[in-house]
Amino acid sequence: MNRPIPGTVEVAVRHVLSDKVTGFLVRTRTMIWKDNVFRVRRPQAGKQTVELTCPVCDASLLAEVRTEARTRRTRIILRILAALCVIVFFTAFPYAVHVGGETLPEGQSLPTLFPISIVAIGVSFVTAPALFVQSRIYNGVSLLDAPRPRRRHSLRPVRN
Ligand SMILES: [Zn+2]
Repeated sequence: MNRPIPGTVEVAVRHVLSDKVTGFLVRTRTMIWKDNVFRVRRPQAGKQTVELTCPVCDASLLAEVRTEARTRRTRIILRILAALCVIVFFTAFPYAVHVGGETLPEGQSLPTLFPISIVAIGVSFVTAPALFVQSRIYNGVSLLDAPRPRRRHSLRPVRN
């Protein structure tokens, strides 16, 4: 079991070995990768850039680390945004059902708000779960620019 150490965060550098998309109608994506876990020290204030070297290919990756407080704040903001998306969804959905189900008098078109509500339903339906997941896994570490092999790498949060 990993115990979280105060002032540090664990992050996995994922080196993608192969990423293949096969199939024509049904596409299957096969990804093979190797994760290497690093323990990164959080800065006292602001943000700090740390260099992580991928043990698989020696590529040097730059990651930006934020403070514990800042990370917590971002998580809360993400959760609030997710909640707002849920509110938008449950406001727009009954409206769209109501307006869409009405029989309009001849020559009258649907209100402008109707297409907007349809878009809002679609966007919030996709965004709310994504934001919620992000609010749970966000660890305040993000990958910065790195040399060319960057494409084949990503940073993964490590759950303690
Ligand atoms: Zn690598």
